[in-house]
Amino acid sequence: MAAKILDGKLLAQQIQAEIAKDVAEFKQKFSATPCLTAVLVGDNPASEVYVRNKQKTCEKVGMTSRLERLDAKSDPQQLFDLIDRLNQDPTVHGILVQLPLPSGWDSNKVLDAVIPSKDVDAFGPENVGLICQGRPRFLPCTPHGVLQLLGRCDIEVAGKHVVVVGRSDIVGKPLAMLLMQRSGPLGEKVANATVTVCHSHTRNLAEFTRQADILIVAIGKANAITAEHVRPGAVVIDVGINRTEAGIVGDVDFASVSSVASAITPVPGGVGPLTIAMLLRNTLTAAQKFQD
Ligand code: NDP
Repeated sequence: MAAKILDGKLLAQQIQAEIAKDVAEFKQKFSATPCLTAVLVGDNPASEVYVRNKQKTCEKVGMTSRLERLDAKSDPQQLFDLIDRLNQDPTVHGILVQLPLPSGWDSNKVLDAVIPSKDVDAFGPENVGLICQGRPRFLPCTPHGVLQLLGRCDIEVAGKHVVVVGRSDIVGKPLAMLLMQRSGPLGEKVANATVTVCHSHTRNLAEFTRQADILIVAIGKANAITAEHVRPGAVVIDVGINRTEAGIVGDVDFASVSSVASAITPVPGGVGPLTIAMLLRNTLTAAQKFQD
């Protein structure tokens, strides 16, 4: 039987509508507009597209979006000065430094410079620490998007074996952390998983992935996960975004896996749109906390 398609685009539209309503209430109550400022260093074409999409969606929900650009050849001190200025600007609620930075730039040092109360990507050490302790200020956008997708599609996570393939600081690691916690943004049912994390040193990957009730893949390798990696009836979430000659594809070979999985996310139109929606939710949260 063909897998159910988990439509992230549709869910993202619903979430955006919820955020737009909350933004309108915020504006009325505080006579202020939540503002996200993106910082783009260099001219990476994919980053240009990501930033443009984030800005467009920001405006759609009634928030202000600003863009600060720096040349790849700038002195890094210019970026630290810019971040410092944004940290202090009371009209800026969220700061997003678009990654990757050009080679030679120290991403960790740059992310450390963003004040935690405006770190709406939740990449800085204070926000990561709070997430680990189960008392997040902001939830990391892509992992939160995955939780929203599972929760809103009524896929229970509690007690299930979830296998996460990929252990990056922005997707795999924080996602595993959220899945194993006692409760989360969607309550106890979309938490309390038994989590296995796989990576490039995992031997016999398929042996692990075939044990998954829910398989989540974030490795950045086009079509790497095929039907042989998937237990019949499993739910498969594909976080990957890979630009190929055939267009944008995920890390999961959709054609083969959709014939064995019970449900699967498409790429594009799966996790990607939810990531942006959760970034906007964090920006609104930052603006609300600023008023407290
Ligand atoms: P990274 O390159 O930072 O991390 C990739 C991870 O996958 C690493 O942990 C790596 O292992 C592991 N890995 C690589 N190859 C294999 C393999 N063959 N088998 C098992 N594990 C492997 O990538 P990101 O986490 O940043 O992104 C992953 C994918 O998700 C990319 O396609 C990216 O474009 C996409 N993405 C999508 C988003 C969305 O909104 N949908 C948001 C962010 C990312 P090791 O640690 O050993 O190197």
